[in-house]
Amino acid sequence: MTDSSTITRFNCTRCGYSLAHRVIGERCSECGTRIDSIGPAWWNQRDLTRISRMALLASIPCYVLLLVPAVFVNEAQTSLSRSAFPTINTFLVLMPIQVIAQAVATWRFAIPELGDSRMRLLRVLAVVRISIFVAAALTVTVTSLAYDWNLSGLWDGPIGSQFGFMLLCGLYFFLPLCAVASDIILSRVLLALQRESQVTLSRWQTISGSIARILLWLVFPFILAPFVGWFFAPIIWTIAMGRCFGETRAMARCAQ
Ligand SMILES: [Zn+2]
Repeated sequence: MTDSSTITRFNCTRCGYSLAHRVIGERCSECGTRIDSIGPAWWNQRDLTRISRMALLASIPCYVLLLVPAVFVNEAQTSLSRSAFPTINTFLVLMPIQVIAQAVATWRFAIPELGDSRMRLLRVLAVVRISIFVAAALTVTVTSLAYDWNLSGLWDGPIGSQFGFMLLCGLYFFLPLCAVASDIILSRVLLALQRESQVTLSRWQTISGSIARILLWLVFPFILAPFVGWFFAPIIWTIAMGRCFGETRAMARCAQ
């Protein structure tokens, strides 16, 4: 028995039974699954390289997005005119990049080795993320165009004001809720991958990853708080997601 064929720390991918000190080619004594690789099915060079690259692709734009509050603070301090345009322009450039990068990464995480249901879930999450962004962009555009064209009368009357109210609720409540929820689900999928890998990450990575996942739950209630929440919740959100992807990358790189 050579060291390389000895399974020292992995559990059966099917039933979870400990396969310590078993070798490739043997069968799990609980469920009979043939041990054909060390670790879960996605535990191979090709899949780990892809997971690592996609985690990097998703994490960098999360941190770059922090330029938005940085520009905002800088503007508020230096410019007396308090022009909001640099902040808005930075946001309009960086936000789509982050959304697209995360959606592409999430879609590409969906490898067959993760199993059908997880593959489907990841693809749904990728589509949901893009759809939420498109819906928000469309809502804002339509609303501002309506005002530009002096169609504010559109919101008058019972039907108009109801429509306006629904639009606001959607933009302020429903879309952020869906976006945060899909990110929480994604963070759980990433955590599950890390647990399956049974890689022990550094203390800093473990603690910051756990804190990031807890903070994700607080983002939505916090984002509803005017001003303080509007400013800090997106910062917490983007750092937390950056951390989740960073943890996944660290796991994938540990194994390579
Ligand atoms: Zn088994």
